[in-house]
Amino acid sequence: MSTDCLFREDSYLRECSATVLGRTDAGGVVLDRTVFYAASGGQPGDRGMLRTAAGDLIPIASANYTDPEKTEISHLPAAGVPLQIGETLHAAIDWDLRYARMRMHTALHLLSAVLPYPVTGGAVGDSHGRLDFDIPEAGLDKDEITRRLAEMIAAGAEVRSRWITDAELEASPGLVKTMSVKPPMGTGRVRLIEIVGYDLQPCGGTHVRSTNEIGDVRVTQIEKKGRQNRRVRIGWG
Ligand SMILES: [Zn+2]
Repeated sequence: MSTDCLFREDSYLRECSATVLGRTDAGGVVLDRTVFYAASGGQPGDRGMLRTAAGDLIPIASANYTDPEKTEISHLPAAGVPLQIGETLHAAIDWDLRYARMRMHTALHLLSAVLPYPVTGGAVGDSHGRLDFDIPEAGLDKDEITRRLAEMIAAGAEVRSRWITDAELEASPGLVKTMSVKPPMGTGRVRLIEIVGYDLQPCGGTHVRSTNEIGDVRVTQIEKKGRQNRRVRIGWG
């Protein structure tokens, strides 16, 4: 079974119709297509609702990939539900939550542009986000980083994506900033996210179209995580 991941082409899609392909052992619902982002790369899976043709509502607590190649998505219902294979449904995400994560995720790309060091980890929340950097020196200034983020956000830079082949990515290792989260490879192509003028990296997450959609963010904390690691947290301003 494989799921057509509609959010990869358009992260602003909030709903779609879909057909039930099967159920997982954990009770998850596998659909032929979906707008639900599946947990990956530090961004949590979407919450939302499935609605059957009869009008029954099925709350979905999260969405996850069932395979390492990331071709199939399981939608985990908050409670057990009877669904037939081949049944058609309407799938809708919790848009406010997703949009907050899109804004935060895009802000983290900007943070990685302000601090151009290797990234060893990260997480996207709806009110906070963080990146861990491989930096030997301390001396990072919260207010200065916040100021530079604000400049990039106010610039309204376009965020755009394009696909390249695995071979093209391998020929450009400098594109990969994140050492712990490998870009999604193995399907023959990788999606590059460009924030025009600021950042270019492979990423499978969901982003806003322009940096001015991010709104106010500020650096809330810089933590030392080991001799050569700094954890930088951001939150809404
Ligand atoms: Zn991203």
